[in-house]
Amino acid sequence: MTYPRRTARPPLQARVRDVRDVTASMRQIDLAGPEVPRLRFRPGAHLVVRVPAEDGEARRVYSVWRHDPAGSLLSLRIALHDAGGPGCAWARKVAPGDRVTLEPPRSKITLAGSAAFHLFAGDETGAVPLLAMRGALPRSAPALGVFEAPAPADEMPGADGVPALPWVHRGGASAVGSRVLLRAVADLELPPGAGVAYVAGESDTCRLVQRLLIEKRGFARRAVHTQPQWTPGRPGFGAGGD
Ligand SMILES: Cc1cc2nc3c(=O)[nH]c(=O)nc-3n(C[C@H](O)[C@H](O)[C@H](O)COP(=O)(O)OP(=O)(O)OC[C@H]3O[C@@H](n4cnc5c(N)ncnc54)[C@H](O)[C@@H]3O)c2cc1C
Repeated sequence: MTYPRRTARPPLQARVRDVRDVTASMRQIDLAGPEVPRLRFRPGAHLVVRVPAEDGEARRVYSVWRHDPAGSLLSLRIALHDAGGPGCAWARKVAPGDRVTLEPPRSKITLAGSAAFHLFAGDETGAVPLLAMRGALPRSAPALGVFEAPAPADEMPGADGVPALPWVHRGGASAVGSRVLLRAVADLELPPGAGVAYVAGESDTCRLVQRLLIEKRGFARRAVHTQPQWTPGRPGFGAGGD
């Protein structure tokens, strides 16, 4: 079998160890496998999961929420969105014991080496890599930010022992180019100094928040790191060769 250039490293085999709901619309899937302890990647990394699809198999991208080499465990958190797709369908019905094929983790967004402060902003899908990154920061590092979800029941909990960041709610409003998140980022009180920002989630929202941070909140262009994760009408976003 041949794979596209970016997936040339051999896939990994894993089994589902546990599945649980972490919010009303997000499911955590814990995967275990012999290669899991040897994986090396930075906080915020993502991987491709090969999920069942009508025509056989589809590739869908998910961030690594937690990596526990000692326990041979890798956890994903997957949003159960209304549009539905093979990734979402897999997350809804996957069960402990199921086999899963993964492609090795890669990084797009990750923590900057040093900054006066770290700002995190995103929707519920962006919260997965961003809260994983936030959890990897030293406790003394100044961190702030805001996340957006439909309702309080959709607020994803962060890593154990890490102070929470606030959430805002879009209710029935669109998550695409989200005005709710944009307003919340515009209202954030920023500490002094040169900060670094990390923005992830719906693609238009990422672009608008990036522009706001640069044009209105004084961030240097190179200090705003974005990771667009989905956009309407683009199945398999980011799985093709990002
Ligand atoms: C680097 C990276 C990291 C990612 N990390 C995560 C993660 O940790 N957790 C996570 O849940 N997602 C994450 N995503 C997003 C995920 O890969 C996509 O949402 C994926 O398209 C979902 O696959 P699907 O098969 O369910 O839907 P698809 O078949 O891809 O899409 C079907 C339809 O659903 C729409 N759609 C897709 N996602 C959403 C959504 N969230 N809300 C509303 N409509 C949507 C699409 O635009 C399309 O119209 C990440 C994406 C990237 C690129």
